[in-house]
Amino acid sequence: METENALARILDGKATAKAVRADVAISVAKLEAQGVRPGLAVVLVGDDPASQVYVRNKDRAATEAGIAVDTVRLAADASQTTVMETLQRLNADPAVHGILLQLPLPEGFDEAPLLLAIDPAKDVDGLHPENVAALVQGRRGLVPCTPAGCIELLDRAGVELKGAHVVIVGRSMLVGKPLAQLVLARHATVTICHSRTRDLAKHVGEADVVVAAVGVARLIQGEWVRPGAVVLDVGINRGEDGKLVGDVDYDSAREKAAAITPVPGGVGPMTIAMLLSNTVLAAARQAGMESALGEGESSPRVP
Ligand code: NAD
Repeated sequence: METENALARILDGKATAKAVRADVAISVAKLEAQGVRPGLAVVLVGDDPASQVYVRNKDRAATEAGIAVDTVRLAADASQTTVMETLQRLNADPAVHGILLQLPLPEGFDEAPLLLAIDPAKDVDGLHPENVAALVQGRRGLVPCTPAGCIELLDRAGVELKGAHVVIVGRSMLVGKPLAQLVLARHATVTICHSRTRDLAKHVGEADVVVAAVGVARLIQGEWVRPGAVVLDVGINRGEDGKLVGDVDYDSAREKAAAITPVPGGVGPMTIAMLLSNTVLAAARQAGMESALGEGESSPRVP
């Protein structure tokens, strides 16, 4: 018999990401059979240790899925012009279908003109203004990987967004804002909370689905969570003991929620999987072969 305070189901991002990556590998094989090998270029400026790890993980996952990866490493003291010229060279290279500029850039670089320089068709991070506009207007584009990963995880777990109240904590261009657009497109009602929101606990308590994307360890308390809610924890924070913790107090939230993502092993792996998915989608579109990808293989996230 199920007790009233049964622990939440764990939404296993690692396993779901593996399933997405398997789908990506199938799509890669289909494109290769038509003579197109999807290619991803990752541009890393400087030697930030966290960025090095992210880039290495992206390289490994893409290579495993059959994507050709070109990691371009530039010194921290490279000029803005050098980075710009690198992006322009990659824009012009027909073997490169996706370009990712690893952020944050070292101090002194101006990110905005560099993001603007990336061909929107190759912008697999979905941060070019053309892709941001496409998302808002419900047009075909490329969607940022982390919010796309949240949607994919909810979809594959069978969580219905239509009519649901989704409360997103965090309003960044990378996560909170694009995710709000994605859930709106799925007919959810959305509340976006941020650092100036009054009574965060009250808003969280009204959510059918809570998404925490803040960067403050264990900010969201289990007692705030409505019984039966679904909780997605995007946050990645390093605790005093060196371990990774999310923005949600996992143990207390697990006693209230119906389903919850762990950190690590939740949204994080989905982000990389969606980067691969975006790369394949970009390659198929550039080759005029989007229809060659089967249903569900081409990230149809904006209806
Ligand atoms: P950001 O710093 O750009 O944005 C943080 C947001 O949180 C802001 O909108 C701010 O208003 C809000 N905020 C800050 N303090 C708050 C408070 N006390 N109450 C309510 N809102 C508050 O961060 P980001 O890039 O969106 O990343 C958020 C978190 O997600 C970070 O921990 C980051 O490491 C993580 N992240 C994870 C992945 C992944 O793949 N899992 C990807 C991107 C970011």
